[in-house]
Amino acid sequence: MDEMSLVTEYPQVKDLMAERPIFWRNPDYGQQAALPFSKADIFDAVARWERFAPYLAKTFPETASMHGIIESPLIRLDRMQAEWNRGYHQRLAGQLFLKADSQLPISGSIKSRGGIYEVLKFAEQVAMAHTDLTYMDDYSVLATDRYHQLFSNYGVVVASTGNLALSVGIVAATFGFHTTVYMSHDARQWKKDKLRANGVQVKEFNTDFSHVIQRARQDAAADPRIHFVDDEGSTDLFLGYAVAAVRLQKQLKDQHIKVDRQHPVLVYLPAGVGGSPSGVTFGLKEIIGPYIHAVFCEPTHVPSVTLGMMTKLNNNISVYDIGLDGLTAADGLAVGRPSRLAGKVMRTLLFGSVTFQDAEIYQNVARLADTQHITVEPSAAAGFTAIAPVIRNVPAFNTEKATHIVWATGGQMMPESERVANYRRGESLLEKE
Ligand SMILES: *Cc1c(COP(=O)(O)O)cnc(C)c1O
Repeated sequence: MDEMSLVTEYPQVKDLMAERPIFWRNPDYGQQAALPFSKADIFDAVARWERFAPYLAKTFPETASMHGIIESPLIRLDRMQAEWNRGYHQRLAGQLFLKADSQLPISGSIKSRGGIYEVLKFAEQVAMAHTDLTYMDDYSVLATDRYHQLFSNYGVVVASTGNLALSVGIVAATFGFHTTVYMSHDARQWKKDKLRANGVQVKEFNTDFSHVIQRARQDAAADPRIHFVDDEGSTDLFLGYAVAAVRLQKQLKDQHIKVDRQHPVLVYLPAGVGGSPSGVTFGLKEIIGPYIHAVFCEPTHVPSVTLGMMTKLNNNISVYDIGLDGLTAADGLAVGRPSRLAGKVMRTLLFGSVTFQDAEIYQNVARLADTQHITVEPSAAAGFTAIAPVIRNVPAFNTEKATHIVWATGGQMMPESERVANYRRGESLLEKE
């Protein structure tokens, strides 16, 4: 389909081409559809995380206080909400929360869910095939020399804009796998340094993510002992993310947050390739049900998942096809083509999506630091930009009985210099208002 007929059929494509911030409401939301995964797949993943908890508690001492379970807090943002109301000249009637994946151990990002899970699954498969390990064993045995030697006969390869490389790289190298990460042009130097310090081989490329992942996939396919973590379509990544919903269900109950027709819960998730927000959303719909609604957030320069879903072309269209440059300061979101899974699975599960200008995420990084003393990276503040368009377009969601959850996808491990630079940029943008 050419650009002209795309615009005729889907008028909002014109706004995307003009880099105008939009709210897109998914016309297929809530319809019946056959899904490729089920609740049983989520609980299979939950059980695997539990089998590995003793291993993680032993090898990553920062997880020991949680007994090897990798989870983030759900934080009430009362002061941020007041500041948000002032800044946006609106009154958010419901309660605002932060799902602080920025504080997850090992990568300080949402990638600790999918990326680590995929490595655990590969390690279990190798161990089961070559040793007498049983599902009932204490998996901390996998941290012994015998297993390290076994794993050193295998490799793990991943391509990443940064955070996925951190989660996959650090854990795979800890098991003993030969670990190689392919980094795109937007990857930060400190992430490369940290990976190298952990024994990971880092290959740097001067191209965008979609090209880098193609190279990585090709190289990995040449050796059957190499496991390729495919950010553009991996089921394991997807299910690792989905486990978040089981944990969130309990956190909502603990904070006395109701989820029913009168008490809608809105969840705002930044989307890059679309894998992590789709995995989480699939989990939310399976575990929590019809009254929790997910909204994806993307930069106006890189609305890859929105474009794919809006036109139903999914991964068969990229933002470059409609003349966009694919550039954003929100690393992690600079992905021009969506994953093979995201659009297909999200067709009936995603409420809608929002696009934002980069300045707005920096402003919210500064507001969050000022009001709550919480540090996130720019992409992780994307959720705050979706609230205003959503309550404007769907007034029924601006009720005192609603709960709004901004999913803060990363940032805790940023070096101080980067934290300060992001904050200053946000602060100066706020002063100009
Ligand atoms: C990876 C990432 C995202 C987006 O996840 P995708 O699976 O690429 O859609 C958002 N925020 C941060 C901080 C990330 O690292």
